[in-house]
Amino acid sequence: MESLDIASLREIQLLKLQRLLVRVYETSAYYNEKFRRADVNPHKFRTWEDYSAYPFFDKDEERASQEQSRQVYGHPFGMHICCNPRSIQRVSASSGTTGTPTYGGYTRRDREIFFENSNRAYVRMDLVPGDRVLFAGVMSMWVGGVPFIDGLLNYGACVIPVGALSGVERVAQTAADTRPDLMLCTPSFALYLIEKIPERTNLNPRDFGIKKICVYGEPGGSIKEIYSRISEGFGGAETYDISGGTGTHSPLAISCEAHAGMHYFADDNALLEIVDPKSLQPLPLEDGVEGEMVFTGLERDCGPLVRWRDKDIVRVTTAPCECGRPGYRLEFRGRSDDMLLVKGVNVFPNAVRDVVIRTSSEVTENVRIVKRTASPVVEPPVEINVELKSETTEDQKLTISRAIEAALHAALHFRASVRLFDRGQLKVEYGATGKLRILDKRY
Ligand SMILES: [Zn+2]
Repeated sequence: MESLDIASLREIQLLKLQRLLVRVYETSAYYNEKFRRADVNPHKFRTWEDYSAYPFFDKDEERASQEQSRQVYGHPFGMHICCNPRSIQRVSASSGTTGTPTYGGYTRRDREIFFENSNRAYVRMDLVPGDRVLFAGVMSMWVGGVPFIDGLLNYGACVIPVGALSGVERVAQTAADTRPDLMLCTPSFALYLIEKIPERTNLNPRDFGIKKICVYGEPGGSIKEIYSRISEGFGGAETYDISGGTGTHSPLAISCEAHAGMHYFADDNALLEIVDPKSLQPLPLEDGVEGEMVFTGLERDCGPLVRWRDKDIVRVTTAPCECGRPGYRLEFRGRSDDMLLVKGVNVFPNAVRDVVIRTSSEVTENVRIVKRTASPVVEPPVEINVELKSETTEDQKLTISRAIEAALHAALHFRASVRLFDRGQLKVEYGATGKLRILDKRY
């Protein structure tokens, strides 16, 4: 499936899509009504143009559907599910950082397709059954938690589920004792380990013998300054960045040794559309196209989400990769809900961070944009707080902040006012999913 040309994949997708649309229309009163309201009939569905008339699905709608099913049926999976709730074997929850969590159910069939996608990712990392894998993510019901372990066990890996919440000392001791081939965690946790292990133990992450580190859950694994520091801190381990999409059987894409974007490898079960974030019109999947990702899990058994708006903005590369592996590549640009508007220009926070850490070797990745209102519109000069690696004189501080302001102006075309903080003064903590969370509301 991964090696098929895009035209053959499109044919398979269209057949599966037709089947999916008829299935949800016939088995779910919710979809039946939704499609009728949008004036589309799956029995008449023939072409890709037909699909562009189908309505989208988003987080607010999913939340409302699940609220309703709690009241009507007494289960949290939503009015839109197409299976008997008793056939659900595993439940995942969204991280809930943007409101009430939503729940996704996985039947036996859903787990099998999830296994298939996981296997594709592991083969791409050259992981073989029997390899030792240290799981240092958070072992929660989040998609990047226990489900990961489910996939690794199925693959035949030797799983060491230490979990990020066991603390730096325990993770370090376990890694030193078990000498894993691969470690899985968020990029910020990998950086945190590099800093804290030598401080708190007499161990050094370089000596663990870890050959590969696969990061997920946050941007970072595809940013050179970040994956290079992770690799270096763990004695030259190869790093991979893995990601997925809501409503599908994630993972769907993984980076390679060339670090030239994430190869998409799941076209046969996760239909990806790239749409214009404003007009929501589908864009052709071709080299250089940039837009918002929309997913349809073509084989989702329990709760198919038809045309799910993931709100992630990506750039597509279709040119062959130097690693030789198949699959067009995606470069994550930011989230459409995190996007700022400065003088009418779209600015992604991670683009700001990229420029800042590229400009000075004296700063950490801890970069904050200060926003005083809920609106995405920010008036220049944009306030940016940056953490310094070590003690610096006032003169040096001035030079660094001026250099960053000039670089931001040159690269992103807005005026910034950069404020530098000594190490430890811009506090961060990890939320329930292991992702970074901002504690100090003043910044
Ligand atoms: Zn590649």
